[in-house]
Amino acid sequence: MFEILFLGTSAAIPTPERISSATLVQYAGRHYLVDCGEGTYQRLAQARAAGLTDAQPGVNLRQVFFTHDHLDHLLGIGGLLFSLRMARLQPRPRLSIYGGSTTLDRVRILATMIRSPEARDPRVDIEYFAVSRGVLIEDEDITISAFRTNHTARPCFGYIFEERPRRSFRPELADRLGVPAGPLRERLMAGETITLPNGDIIHPDQVLSDPQPGAKVVISGDIAFTHSLARVAQGADLLITEATFSSEEAHLAEASGHMTPAQAAAIAAEAGVRLLCLTHIGDAYYGREEQLLAEARAIFPNTILPADLDRVIVERRTT
Ligand SMILES: [Zn+2]
Ligand SMILES: [Zn+2]
Repeated sequence: MFEILFLGTSAAIPTPERISSATLVQYAGRHYLVDCGEGTYQRLAQARAAGLTDAQPGVNLRQVFFTHDHLDHLLGIGGLLFSLRMARLQPRPRLSIYGGSTTLDRVRILATMIRSPEARDPRVDIEYFAVSRGVLIEDEDITISAFRTNHTARPCFGYIFEERPRRSFRPELADRLGVPAGPLRERLMAGETITLPNGDIIHPDQVLSDPQPGAKVVISGDIAFTHSLARVAQGADLLITEATFSSEEAHLAEASGHMTPAQAAAIAAEAGVRLLCLTHIGDAYYGREEQLLAEARAIFPNTILPADLDRVIVERRTT
């Protein structure tokens, strides 16, 4: 089960209620940050104080994924690194920064600035990983992968967080085969072949379902209208994408490599996602965000437009 905590949902200019882009993806006590707009460190502190997360940058939140090098997506890493340096945490905080080459260059500039000449010890360990398309992280229960996106910066990436497929235990089949409740069933669930007291041999395949796909969350970052996003988001449980301009300003969206809510909704419908989430809200829509939401819902009703610090739970589909 993924838990998404929206930290920053504004486009380039923060509003009284929204800071620039930052999204926290959480899974089984692990935390991943996608983009780090100005004010992200403070928003995280606010979220912890409200009991919404226990994510501590550099401590249990060590992986930061950047979609592209525009400053509304990365200025916050400067403040975050400065705060970590000032906090003098022990053990020393560690961060892994993932992004395209130009993004990493900009993050390095900020990190260098914060490591001032009189403070030779930056007090934060940073590793940089240049992202290319494909799987970035693979562990026992989730994979994190990157895909190329089309926006005015180059290169730009979106990220896919996906649970691994899982087979579920089917008790009705175990009943039919005479497997008693208890340890024998647990061994079958763990993938072991067992022998029943009557000598029958039972294989896990006889009592487990076919592999069921895991929950899938797609975060596009800033992106121009493109059908390739529908291919990437095919069957996703949650698509987080942008709504920087309304359809009335579709010409501005097109000129700046962004999408309108109607275009995002068309992609969501084409991809067959369960839930569409609009973020990167243009500051011109402050106080009238409902207009953007209504535009998307007219095409794809299952759309939300979260505020900063809203959470969305994404569970594996049950069949
Ligand atoms: Zn942006
Ligand atoms: Zn951008």
